[in-house]
Amino acid sequence: MQIKVVANVLKANRDVASENRALLKELGIKVVNLISSPGAGKTTLLERTIADLKEELPLAVIEGDLMTTRDGERIGRHGVPVVQINTGGGCHLDAAMVKKALEELPLKEIKLLIIENVGNLVCPSSFDLGEDEKVVIISVPEGDDKPAKYPVTFRRTRLCLLNKIDLLPYSNFNVDNFYRDVRALNPEMKVLQVSALTGEGMEAWYNYLRGLVQSN
Ligand code: MG
Ligand code: ZN
Repeated sequence: MQIKVVANVLKANRDVASENRALLKELGIKVVNLISSPGAGKTTLLERTIADLKEELPLAVIEGDLMTTRDGERIGRHGVPVVQINTGGGCHLDAAMVKKALEELPLKEIKLLIIENVGNLVCPSSFDLGEDEKVVIISVPEGDDKPAKYPVTFRRTRLCLLNKIDLLPYSNFNVDNFYRDVRALNPEMKVLQVSALTGEGMEAWYNYLRGLVQSN
């Protein structure tokens, strides 16, 4: 019985996600779903991305958090449309939440929508939101064993950003072990090493976003 309930929830979510996807595709908007643990630097990475790309790529943000509008306020200061979703303790965003948030955004004016999921590496990857791509962010202080511990998220994602590489000299994070574990789970996974703090490697991430927006 338990399993059937979960299956029904996921099926209902998939139906709404398909509606979101159809709407966004019709409007020519590409969507990225950012997934990471709390503290991996999603919001900081987004802030730098927005500051560097907003003139070139009209974009909007949906911010998912358990509580508070702090991250939404940080993004809003950069002058891009943002909707904050508070899940009230829920550990992931679902497609119905995103559908509601879409009603609040100026969809005709944007080409890229970035969704910052709730900080959690377990279940967000199970809930399709209608995105084109899921992107997983791991930061150096979390340790190189994250892929092995959260295999499902890594199997469902095609791009991983390894953030906070400015901290590599001060940590025992083993980049070779990290790549080995990632590739074992997902041979197709692309990894980009970035520092949202110093800007190192960010151009490759921007090129990825540019390519996504131009793709059909
Ligand atoms: Mg955040
Ligand atoms: Zn969850």
